[in-house]
Amino acid sequence: QTLDRGLEKSKSSFFEKLSKAVAGKSKVDDDVLDNLEEVLVSSDVGVNTTLKIIERIEERVERDKYLGTEELNKILREEIAGLLSENNHGDATEFEVPKDKKPYVLMVVGVNGVGKTTTIGKLAYQFKKAGHKVVLGAADTFRAAAIDQLQIWADRVDVPIVRQQMGSDPASVAFDTLQSAVSQDADVVIIDTAGRLHNKVNLMNELSKVKRVMQKVVGDAPHDVLLVLDGSTGQNAFEQAKQFTAATEVTSLAVTKLDGTAKGGVVIGISDQFKIPVKYIGVGEGIEDLQVFNKFEFVDSFFK
Ligand code: GDP
Repeated sequence: QTLDRGLEKSKSSFFEKLSKAVAGKSKVDDDVLDNLEEVLVSSDVGVNTTLKIIERIEERVERDKYLGTEELNKILREEIAGLLSENNHGDATEFEVPKDKKPYVLMVVGVNGVGKTTTIGKLAYQFKKAGHKVVLGAADTFRAAAIDQLQIWADRVDVPIVRQQMGSDPASVAFDTLQSAVSQDADVVIIDTAGRLHNKVNLMNELSKVKRVMQKVVGDAPHDVLLVLDGSTGQNAFEQAKQFTAATEVTSLAVTKLDGTAKGGVVIGISDQFKIPVKYIGVGEGIEDLQVFNKFEFVDSFFK
């Protein structure tokens, strides 16, 4: 019974929680702000970003002397959209490949289990559908399962994959992949890398070696370093973002599993805290269940 209640609680949406937080109140006062803080934190917005939002609301209350709870919804929405806009400038709706990069090299990082392989498969599918020639590289060589999983996606999408045996040097796989891509005149290369957070120095060394070696083939590779995070894991996602951004320059984020959670707040908090744009969101296990992140649609869905 406790479990049932727990699930119900985690399932209730941000909007539902927000409504409860202001129930019976007509104006925004300290109590409402305390409740709001709790709602934001429990929606995985993260403490720093929550405090930033609360502060901005407080400023409004102070400035306008009075803020009705009906207005709170609208203002909160503006503040969240504003925060997202600081790091998410584009409003792309399509899976785009920069025209001036050939091949466009996308390096994907993230720990096992977050949906990294699935995201690579979904991306390969979208890029191929858009008419691009895609090659995958299995440079997450620590687990045989990781290589096999990527192979399954390569077969499903029907794109070539470059792989070596388990335990081989990730940089060597990345090198082979880029060479093969160039010789096939490919448009997009997606390299699967580091699936484990052993220790920071190892991670840093592994990723920088992969980059260095890739640059022997494509001088300015990688063009994008995409960190995949599981949106349903809250604090863990923040911790992983911290570790990966410390180990390498992460240029965009994919947040997965947003279908199974009412806690999409991770998207708001992580983008704000690490100043990295969210490029894609995963909304299911199927091949079509990856979307180009759109901040306006996201804010709309968050308030439903
Ligand atoms: P990896 O170990 O990070 O490569 O993770 P996988 O790609 O193998 O995914 C782990 C599990 O998460 C699999 O069962 C996937 O089907 C599932 N998964 C990946 N992305 C999503 C998503 O956006 N939504 C849901 N519900 N499941 C996902």
